[in-house]
Amino acid sequence: MNKDIATPVRTQEILKKYGFSFKKSLGQNFIIDPNILRNIVAQAQLTSESGAIEVGPGIGALTEHLARAAKKVVAFEIDQRLLPVLADTLSAYDNVTIEHGDVLEADVATVIKREMPGIEDIMVVANLPYYVTTPILLKLLHADLPIRGYVVMMQKEVADRITAQPGTKAYGSLSIAIQYYVTAEVAMIVPKTVFMPQPNVESAVIRLIKHDVPPVKVIDESFFFAVARMSFAQRRKTILNNLQSGLPNGKAKKDQILTALEAAGIDPKRRGETLSIQEFGQLADYLHPYFV
Ligand code: SAM
Repeated sequence: MNKDIATPVRTQEILKKYGFSFKKSLGQNFIIDPNILRNIVAQAQLTSESGAIEVGPGIGALTEHLARAAKKVVAFEIDQRLLPVLADTLSAYDNVTIEHGDVLEADVATVIKREMPGIEDIMVVANLPYYVTTPILLKLLHADLPIRGYVVMMQKEVADRITAQPGTKAYGSLSIAIQYYVTAEVAMIVPKTVFMPQPNVESAVIRLIKHDVPPVKVIDESFFFAVARMSFAQRRKTILNNLQSGLPNGKAKKDQILTALEAAGIDPKRRGETLSIQEFGQLADYLHPYFV
């Protein structure tokens, strides 16, 4: 087995060899601790039949651990300067494909079909670029890809919001937008010292596993997400107030909103942060005929 990329000494050597300078704007904080990488990969429960999708391989620190654990790895990297580096650091692995480009622009479904034919178990495993964590996750979740789940590093504050439960300060429309698709939990908190350069914020790894059965069925997903968003617009206001401000012509349609709240069994004086995902689903369905 090759020497790990993710040791401080080897990482420094690679950076020096290629004269590589970090771009803060691309969220480049590389992992320099193989133990963290082993833990991340263990969380994904890959087998030799699995596929792994990585966003942002950097110099390949996590990629090589994935290449050892999975059948096939596809990694999307936006920074062209890293392509020759990766070709070098990952030369020992013939099961890795690097896709050059912005993952937000990529046709991930087509890449999976092309690169992972016959692979049934696919996980996304990544140390995400923190400036685009949420857009990346929402894009992949909305795309309805054949992915079992996600083990991803991100800013701890975002991890807390994604995994939050009703009645907590961190709970909001992001918790609902994600937990509609997956179960979400924080797998580990990660100290700044495992990165080069060290980020300014705390980090955490979260694990998201796709639901077998969705927690709620709704008539209109985009209306459901919109109702959740508007319910948190002013966190200290009641659900009734927020819906009146957020729904089209909501002020004049107070009676219809009250009827929908009653049908869903929700006290109009409650705050959005106390509603479960199931309650938001029911509420959206009862509001739907009046507002869409
Ligand atoms: N996986 C490496 C590691 O853990 O050491 C690097 C992780 S670093 C936090 C994020 C990586 O994502 C960088 O290599 C960066 O160039 C890349 N990146 C940033 N924005 C991206 C995007 N929109 N699409 C694909 N890759 C991106």
